Amino acid sequence: MTAQLIDGKLIAQQVRDEVAAEVAKRLAAGKPRPGLATVLVGDRVDSATYVAAKQKACNELGMVSYHHPLPADISQDELERALRELNADELINGILVQLPLPGHLDEERVLQLISIEKDVDGFSPLNIGRLAQKGRDPLFVPCTPYGCIYLLEKSGVKIEGANAVVLGRSNIVGMPAALLLIGKNATVTVCHSRTKNLPEVVRQADILIAAIGRPEMVRGDWIKPGAAIIDVGINGIPLFNEDGSPLISEKTGKPRQKLVGDVNFEEAKEVAGFITPVPGGVGPMTIAMLMRNTLRAAQIQQGD
Ligand code: NDP
Repeated sequence: MTAQLIDGKLIAQQVRDEVAAEVAKRLAAGKPRPGLATVLVGDRVDSATYVAAKQKACNELGMVSYHHPLPADISQDELERALRELNADELINGILVQLPLPGHLDEERVLQLISIEKDVDGFSPLNIGRLAQKGRDPLFVPCTPYGCIYLLEKSGVKIEGANAVVLGRSNIVGMPAALLLIGKNATVTVCHSRTKNLPEVVRQADILIAAIGRPEMVRGDWIKPGAAIIDVGINGIPLFNEDGSPLISEKTGKPRQKLVGDVNFEEAKEVAGFITPVPGGVGPMTIAMLMRNTLRAAQIQQGD
Protein backbone atom coordinates (compact mmCIF):
# COMPACT_ATOMS: atom_id res chain seq x y z
CA MET A 1 0.00 0.00 0.00
CA THR A 2 1.42 3.36 -0.94
CA ALA A 3 -1.40 5.61 0.25
CA GLN A 4 -1.56 7.04 3.74
CA LEU A 5 -4.71 5.76 5.45
CA ILE A 6 -7.01 8.49 6.76
CA ASP A 7 -8.35 7.03 9.98
CA GLY A 8 -11.85 8.47 10.32
CA LYS A 9 -12.54 6.51 13.48
CA LEU A 10 -9.56 8.04 15.25
CA ILE A 11 -10.18 11.58 13.98
CA ALA A 12 -13.90 11.34 14.85
CA GLN A 13 -12.95 10.24 18.38
CA GLN A 14 -10.66 13.26 18.71
CA VAL A 15 -13.52 15.56 17.65
CA ARG A 16 -15.83 13.88 20.15
CA ASP A 17 -13.24 14.22 22.94
CA GLU A 18 -12.85 17.93 22.17
CA VAL A 19 -16.63 18.43 22.23
CA ALA A 20 -16.94 16.51 25.52
CA ALA A 21 -14.18 18.61 27.11
CA GLU A 22 -15.81 21.86 25.98
CA VAL A 23 -19.22 20.72 27.26
CA ALA A 24 -17.68 19.83 30.64
CA LYS A 25 -16.07 23.29 30.79
CA ARG A 26 -19.40 24.97 30.10
CA LEU A 27 -21.17 22.92 32.75
CA ALA A 28 -18.46 23.75 35.28
CA ALA A 29 -19.02 27.43 34.47
CA GLY A 30 -22.74 27.00 35.31
CA LYS A 31 -23.97 27.06 31.73
CA PRO A 32 -26.86 24.83 30.65
CA ARG A 33 -26.29 21.43 29.07
CA PRO A 34 -26.51 21.64 25.25
CA GLY A 35 -29.68 19.93 24.01
CA LEU A 36 -30.43 18.24 20.69
CA ALA A 37 -33.97 17.39 19.60
CA THR A 38 -34.21 14.40 17.28
CA VAL A 39 -37.40 14.19 15.25
CA LEU A 40 -38.18 10.80 13.75
CA VAL A 41 -41.32 10.51 11.63
CA GLY A 42 -42.50 6.95 11.04
CA ASP A 43 -40.81 3.65 11.75
CA ARG A 44 -38.08 3.13 9.14
CA VAL A 45 -35.59 0.80 10.79
CA ASP A 46 -32.51 2.46 9.21
CA SER A 47 -33.65 5.95 10.28
CA ALA A 48 -34.38 4.71 13.82
CA THR A 49 -30.86 3.23 13.99
CA TYR A 50 -29.24 6.50 12.86
CA VAL A 51 -31.28 8.52 15.35
CA ALA A 52 -30.42 6.13 18.19
CA ALA A 53 -26.70 6.53 17.38
CA LYS A 54 -27.04 10.32 17.46
CA GLN A 55 -28.86 10.23 20.80
CA LYS A 56 -26.21 7.91 22.24
CA ALA A 57 -23.40 10.21 21.09
CA CYS A 58 -25.13 13.20 22.67
CA ASN A 59 -25.43 11.47 26.00
CA GLU A 60 -21.84 10.23 25.89
CA LEU A 61 -20.52 13.76 25.36
CA GLY A 62 -22.52 15.28 28.22
CA MET A 63 -25.28 16.78 26.10
CA VAL A 64 -28.98 15.95 26.33
CA SER A 65 -31.04 14.42 23.55
CA TYR A 66 -34.77 14.95 23.45
CA HIS A 67 -36.37 12.35 21.24
CA HIS A 68 -39.58 13.10 19.35
CA PRO A 69 -40.93 10.00 17.62
CA LEU A 70 -43.91 10.98 15.48
CA PRO A 71 -46.40 8.75 13.64
CA ALA A 72 -45.83 8.01 9.93
CA ASP A 73 -49.24 9.50 9.08
CA ILE A 74 -48.67 12.81 10.87
CA SER A 75 -50.07 15.75 8.89
CA GLN A 76 -47.89 18.55 7.55
CA ASP A 77 -49.63 20.98 9.92
CA GLU A 78 -49.01 18.81 12.97
CA LEU A 79 -45.35 18.34 12.09
CA GLU A 80 -44.90 22.06 11.52
CA ARG A 81 -46.55 22.78 14.87
CA ALA A 82 -44.16 20.36 16.60
CA LEU A 83 -41.18 22.09 14.95
CA ARG A 84 -42.39 25.55 15.97
CA GLU A 85 -42.55 24.33 19.57
CA LEU A 86 -38.98 23.02 19.34
CA ASN A 87 -37.82 26.31 17.80
CA ALA A 88 -39.25 28.12 20.84
CA ASP A 89 -37.97 25.68 23.46
CA GLU A 90 -34.96 27.12 25.31
CA LEU A 91 -33.71 23.71 26.41
CA ILE A 92 -33.17 22.76 22.80
CA ASN A 93 -30.17 24.15 20.95
CA GLY A 94 -30.24 21.92 17.89
CA ILE A 95 -33.05 20.32 15.90
CA LEU A 96 -32.45 17.31 13.72
CA VAL A 97 -35.25 16.03 11.49
CA GLN A 98 -34.22 12.59 10.28
CA LEU A 99 -34.59 12.30 6.50
CA PRO A 100 -36.17 10.98 4.38
CA LEU A 101 -39.65 11.98 5.52
CA PRO A 102 -42.69 9.95 4.43
CA GLY A 103 -43.73 10.92 0.90
CA HIS A 104 -46.86 12.93 1.85
CA LEU A 105 -44.79 15.50 3.77
CA ASP A 106 -43.18 18.56 2.18
CA GLU A 107 -39.52 18.19 3.14
CA GLU A 108 -38.48 21.59 1.84
CA ARG A 109 -41.09 23.40 3.93
CA VAL A 110 -40.10 21.41 6.99
CA LEU A 111 -36.40 22.24 6.58
CA GLN A 112 -37.26 25.88 5.95
CA LEU A 113 -39.12 26.04 9.22
CA ILE A 114 -36.20 25.02 11.44
CA SER A 115 -34.72 28.13 13.03
CA ILE A 116 -31.37 28.85 11.34
CA GLU A 117 -29.72 29.01 14.77
CA LYS A 118 -30.87 25.47 15.56
CA ASP A 119 -30.25 23.96 12.11
CA VAL A 120 -27.44 21.63 13.22
CA ASP A 121 -27.84 19.42 10.14
CA GLY A 122 -27.16 22.48 7.98
CA PHE A 123 -29.92 21.61 5.50
CA SER A 124 -32.12 24.69 5.85
CA PRO A 125 -32.23 26.68 2.60
CA LEU A 126 -30.75 29.66 4.46
CA ASN A 127 -27.64 27.78 5.57
CA ILE A 128 -27.19 26.12 2.16
CA GLY A 129 -27.77 29.47 0.44
CA ARG A 130 -25.06 31.09 2.52
CA LEU A 131 -22.71 28.20 1.75
CA ALA A 132 -23.29 28.85 -1.96
CA GLN A 133 -22.54 32.58 -1.76
CA LYS A 134 -19.08 34.06 -1.88
CA GLY A 135 -18.06 35.79 1.32
CA ARG A 136 -21.08 34.57 3.36
CA ASP A 137 -20.65 31.91 5.97
CA PRO A 138 -23.40 29.48 6.96
CA LEU A 139 -24.00 29.04 10.68
CA PHE A 140 -23.85 25.27 10.17
CA VAL A 141 -22.41 23.05 7.47
CA PRO A 142 -24.04 19.67 6.63
CA CYS A 143 -22.32 17.04 8.75
CA THR A 144 -21.07 14.49 6.19
CA PRO A 145 -19.44 17.00 3.80
CA TYR A 146 -18.09 18.89 6.83
CA GLY A 147 -16.52 15.59 7.94
CA CYS A 148 -14.97 15.06 4.49
CA ILE A 149 -13.27 18.45 4.50
CA TYR A 150 -12.20 18.02 8.11
CA LEU A 151 -10.50 14.69 7.22
CA LEU A 152 -8.63 16.34 4.35
CA GLU A 153 -7.46 19.24 6.50
CA LYS A 154 -6.47 17.04 9.45
CA SER A 155 -4.43 14.88 7.07
CA GLY A 156 -2.55 17.90 5.77
CA VAL A 157 -3.99 17.74 2.24
CA LYS A 158 -3.71 21.12 0.53
CA ILE A 159 -7.14 22.13 -0.76
CA GLU A 160 -6.37 25.61 -2.06
CA GLY A 161 -5.54 25.49 -5.78
CA ALA A 162 -6.16 21.71 -6.00
CA ASN A 163 -8.24 20.15 -8.76
CA ALA A 164 -11.10 18.54 -6.86
CA VAL A 165 -13.64 16.18 -8.37
CA VAL A 166 -16.87 15.42 -6.53
CA LEU A 167 -18.80 12.36 -7.66
CA GLY A 168 -22.48 12.93 -6.86
CA ARG A 169 -24.59 16.07 -6.54
CA SER A 170 -27.07 15.18 -3.80
CA ASN A 171 -28.31 17.87 -1.43
CA ILE A 172 -26.94 15.90 1.50
CA VAL A 173 -23.40 15.11 0.35
CA GLY A 174 -22.22 15.92 -3.17
CA MET A 175 -23.44 19.47 -3.65
CA PRO A 176 -22.49 20.85 -0.22
CA ALA A 177 -19.11 19.07 -0.46
CA ALA A 178 -18.49 20.83 -3.78
CA LEU A 179 -19.53 24.20 -2.32
CA LEU A 180 -17.21 23.71 0.66
CA LEU A 181 -14.29 22.89 -1.63
CA ILE A 182 -14.97 25.99 -3.73
CA GLY A 183 -15.06 28.03 -0.52
CA LYS A 184 -11.60 26.65 0.28
CA ASN A 185 -10.31 27.75 -3.15
CA ALA A 186 -10.18 24.39 -4.91
CA THR A 187 -11.11 24.19 -8.59
CA VAL A 188 -14.09 21.89 -8.53
CA THR A 189 -15.75 19.57 -11.05
CA VAL A 190 -19.06 17.99 -10.01
CA CYS A 191 -19.97 14.71 -11.73
CA HIS A 192 -23.31 12.88 -11.83
CA SER A 193 -25.10 10.13 -13.69
CA ARG A 194 -25.02 11.99 -17.03
CA THR A 195 -21.31 12.91 -16.88
CA LYS A 196 -19.38 11.68 -19.91
CA ASN A 197 -15.92 10.09 -19.76
CA LEU A 198 -16.03 9.77 -15.99
CA PRO A 199 -12.69 7.92 -15.63
CA GLU A 200 -10.99 10.68 -17.64
CA VAL A 201 -12.48 13.40 -15.42
CA VAL A 202 -11.54 11.55 -12.23
CA ARG A 203 -7.94 11.17 -13.47
CA GLN A 204 -7.56 14.95 -13.23
CA ALA A 205 -8.40 14.96 -9.52
CA ASP A 206 -5.87 15.89 -6.87
CA ILE A 207 -8.76 15.44 -4.46
CA LEU A 208 -11.64 13.03 -5.09
CA ILE A 209 -14.81 12.92 -3.01
CA ALA A 210 -16.92 9.95 -4.10
CA ALA A 211 -20.58 9.96 -3.05
CA ILE A 212 -22.60 8.01 -5.60
CA GLY A 213 -23.71 4.85 -3.82
CA ARG A 214 -22.21 2.53 -6.49
CA PRO A 215 -20.08 -0.27 -4.96
CA GLU A 216 -16.40 0.00 -5.90
CA MET A 217 -17.17 1.78 -9.17
CA VAL A 218 -14.04 3.95 -9.08
CA ARG A 219 -11.15 1.76 -10.19
CA GLY A 220 -7.45 2.09 -9.42
CA ASP A 221 -6.60 3.19 -12.95
CA TRP A 222 -9.01 6.16 -12.60
CA ILE A 223 -6.87 7.62 -9.83
CA LYS A 224 -4.17 10.23 -10.33
CA PRO A 225 -0.99 9.09 -8.54
CA GLY A 226 -0.76 10.79 -5.15
CA ALA A 227 -4.41 11.94 -5.09
CA ALA A 228 -6.39 12.24 -1.84
CA ILE A 229 -9.47 9.99 -1.92
CA ILE A 230 -12.45 10.53 0.38
CA ASP A 231 -14.91 7.69 -0.09
CA VAL A 232 -18.36 8.56 1.26
CA GLY A 233 -20.17 5.56 -0.23
CA ILE A 234 -21.61 2.91 2.04
CA ASN A 235 -22.75 -0.07 0.00
CA GLY A 236 -23.67 -3.55 1.20
CA ILE A 237 -22.59 -6.30 -1.17
CA PRO A 238 -23.70 -9.92 -0.63
CA LEU A 239 -21.19 -12.54 0.50
CA PHE A 240 -21.16 -16.06 -0.99
CA ASN A 241 -19.98 -19.52 0.04
CA GLU A 242 -17.39 -21.34 -2.05
CA ASP A 243 -20.19 -23.18 -3.88
CA GLY A 244 -21.71 -19.86 -4.91
CA SER A 245 -24.68 -20.01 -2.53
CA PRO A 246 -25.43 -16.93 -0.39
CA LEU A 247 -23.62 -16.87 2.95
CA ILE A 248 -26.24 -16.83 5.68
CA SER A 249 -25.59 -15.33 9.11
CA GLU A 250 -25.97 -17.88 11.89
CA LYS A 251 -27.06 -15.11 14.24
CA THR A 252 -29.78 -13.43 12.17
CA GLY A 253 -30.61 -16.08 9.55
CA LYS A 254 -30.25 -13.36 6.90
CA PRO A 255 -27.78 -13.20 3.97
CA ARG A 256 -24.46 -11.71 5.09
CA GLN A 257 -23.14 -8.53 3.53
CA LYS A 258 -19.83 -6.77 3.37
CA LEU A 259 -19.65 -2.97 3.42
CA VAL A 260 -17.69 -1.34 0.61
CA GLY A 261 -17.31 2.22 -0.62
CA ASP A 262 -17.73 3.76 -4.05
CA VAL A 263 -13.99 3.32 -4.65
CA ASN A 264 -12.21 0.02 -5.16
CA PHE A 265 -10.02 0.35 -2.06
CA GLU A 266 -7.57 -2.45 -2.85
CA GLU A 267 -6.73 -0.94 -6.23
CA ALA A 268 -6.89 2.71 -5.26
CA LYS A 269 -4.65 2.42 -2.20
CA GLU A 270 -1.74 1.43 -4.48
CA VAL A 271 -2.02 4.67 -6.47
CA ALA A 272 -3.45 7.34 -4.15
CA GLY A 273 -1.52 9.51 -1.72
CA PHE A 274 -4.27 9.44 0.94
CA ILE A 275 -7.37 7.29 1.21
CA THR A 276 -10.27 6.72 3.62
CA PRO A 277 -11.37 3.14 4.31
CA VAL A 278 -14.98 1.92 4.33
CA PRO A 279 -16.02 1.35 7.02
CA GLY A 280 -14.02 3.55 9.39
CA GLY A 281 -13.49 6.58 7.14
CA VAL A 282 -16.17 9.19 6.58
CA GLY A 283 -18.91 7.21 8.39
CA PRO A 284 -17.85 8.02 11.99
CA MET A 285 -17.29 11.68 11.07
CA THR A 286 -20.96 12.42 10.38
CA ILE A 287 -22.07 12.05 14.00
CA ALA A 288 -18.90 13.67 15.33
CA MET A 289 -19.60 16.78 13.23
CA LEU A 290 -23.24 16.78 14.33
CA MET A 291 -22.01 16.89 17.93
CA ARG A 292 -19.69 19.76 17.04
CA ASN A 293 -22.56 21.61 15.40
CA THR A 294 -24.79 21.05 18.44
CA LEU A 295 -22.17 22.47 20.77
CA ARG A 296 -21.74 25.43 18.41
CA ALA A 297 -25.51 25.98 18.42
CA ALA A 298 -25.44 26.21 22.22
CA GLN A 299 -22.50 28.63 22.05
CA ILE A 300 -24.29 30.85 19.51
CA GLN A 301 -27.55 30.86 21.45
CA GLN A 302 -25.86 31.55 24.75
CA GLY A 303 -23.94 34.45 23.23
CA ASP A 304 -20.42 32.97 23.41
P1 NDP B 1 -27.95 10.00 -3.76
O1 NDP B 1 -28.51 8.74 -4.31
O2 NDP B 1 -28.86 11.04 -3.23
O3 NDP B 1 -27.05 10.69 -4.88
C1 NDP B 1 -26.19 9.94 -5.68
C2 NDP B 1 -25.49 10.85 -6.66
O4 NDP B 1 -24.59 10.05 -7.42
C3 NDP B 1 -26.42 11.55 -7.65
O5 NDP B 1 -26.00 12.87 -7.86
C4 NDP B 1 -26.27 10.70 -8.92
O6 NDP B 1 -26.42 11.45 -10.12
C5 NDP B 1 -24.84 10.23 -8.81
N1 NDP B 1 -24.64 8.96 -9.50
C6 NDP B 1 -25.33 7.83 -9.33
N2 NDP B 1 -24.85 6.87 -10.15
C7 NDP B 1 -23.81 7.41 -10.84
C8 NDP B 1 -22.93 6.94 -11.82
N3 NDP B 1 -23.00 5.70 -12.28
N4 NDP B 1 -21.99 7.79 -12.30
C9 NDP B 1 -21.91 9.07 -11.85
N5 NDP B 1 -22.73 9.58 -10.91
C10 NDP B 1 -23.68 8.76 -10.41
O7 NDP B 1 -26.89 9.54 -2.68
P2 NDP B 1 -26.29 10.29 -1.37
O8 NDP B 1 -25.55 11.49 -1.80
O9 NDP B 1 -27.33 10.40 -0.33
O10 NDP B 1 -25.27 9.16 -0.89
C11 NDP B 1 -24.17 8.75 -1.67
C12 NDP B 1 -23.46 7.62 -0.97
O11 NDP B 1 -22.95 8.10 0.26
C13 NDP B 1 -24.33 6.42 -0.60
O12 NDP B 1 -23.57 5.24 -0.70
C14 NDP B 1 -24.71 6.67 0.85
O13 NDP B 1 -24.98 5.48 1.56
C15 NDP B 1 -23.45 7.32 1.35
N6 NDP B 1 -23.64 8.21 2.51
C16 NDP B 1 -22.78 8.08 3.54
C17 NDP B 1 -22.89 8.91 4.64
C18 NDP B 1 -21.89 8.76 5.74
O14 NDP B 1 -22.14 9.17 6.84
N7 NDP B 1 -20.73 8.23 5.49
C19 NDP B 1 -23.93 9.91 4.76
C20 NDP B 1 -24.75 10.02 3.58
C21 NDP B 1 -24.60 9.19 2.50
P3 NDP B 1 -27.80 12.18 -10.54
O15 NDP B 1 -27.86 13.42 -9.71
O16 NDP B 1 -27.61 12.45 -11.99
O17 NDP B 1 -28.88 11.20 -10.24
